[in-house]
Amino acid sequence: MAGRIEKSALHVPALEELCEVLQDGLKRNFADVHVSVVDCPDFTQEPFCFAAAGLCGEPRIADVGGVPYLLPLPQTDKIYNLNTVAEEVELPGAFILGAGAASFKAVGVNAEVVEVRSSRRTGQSNFVSCMREALERHYGDKPVGMGGTFLIQKGKAKIHVMPEFSPCPLNSDEAVSNWLKFFDMSAPLICQSVYVSRDPGFDLRVEHTHCFSHHGEGGHYHYDTTPDTVEYLGYFSPAEHLYRIDRPDKIHKLGWEQ
Ligand code: ZN
Repeated sequence: MAGRIEKSALHVPALEELCEVLQDGLKRNFADVHVSVVDCPDFTQEPFCFAAAGLCGEPRIADVGGVPYLLPLPQTDKIYNLNTVAEEVELPGAFILGAGAASFKAVGVNAEVVEVRSSRRTGQSNFVSCMREALERHYGDKPVGMGGTFLIQKGKAKIHVMPEFSPCPLNSDEAVSNWLKFFDMSAPLICQSVYVSRDPGFDLRVEHTHCFSHHGEGGHYHYDTTPDTVEYLGYFSPAEHLYRIDRPDKIHKLGWEQ
């Protein structure tokens, strides 16, 4: 069973306004940017092949557990049932997408989404950080949460996968880096992502993205390694509520940058 559940309303800007904020923010970091409001594509089709057709409905973000349950030594009793999480965010049977293991998020079904196209990275931020930082700059202490999916259509990305649990305690970021396995993976990669512009005080992981592919590659997204040729196409929707489930009592920042 999960521990306590904390709930908080998020600021939900109009989609047109979000487009402007993201367009401006991404322009700082990518040569070509186009952000618009579109009807959500059918995500049950290739290349996505998700279990539900669209985003939205009553979108909510759930941040469950946390890295302190994994490091320095794993607490292997921390297993969460997605059906239970759907009930805990008051959407039983919800379609859930996002980054599993340390955190993931929940979204409903159907409607419009913000479509984001960006290519040729000119700045240092990755695609997700760049959008999150744009929202934080614009909305300040009003937290805005976004969830959705994006494709890395061209280029390569640095991705990590977790090997078997380490038998010895991982007490430093360096030890965590040495334990994780890093790879350069090739497009097309299908990513599921969640980000919150600013942590409203829940020890959140403010951005988290996992990806998979149809050629056997996948893992935790860090950034693309081919800035000159990379192309991103994403669909995101603002979430209305944030649920923090089973927040660890003891907080450390070990491994959060991984
Ligand atoms: Zn991850």
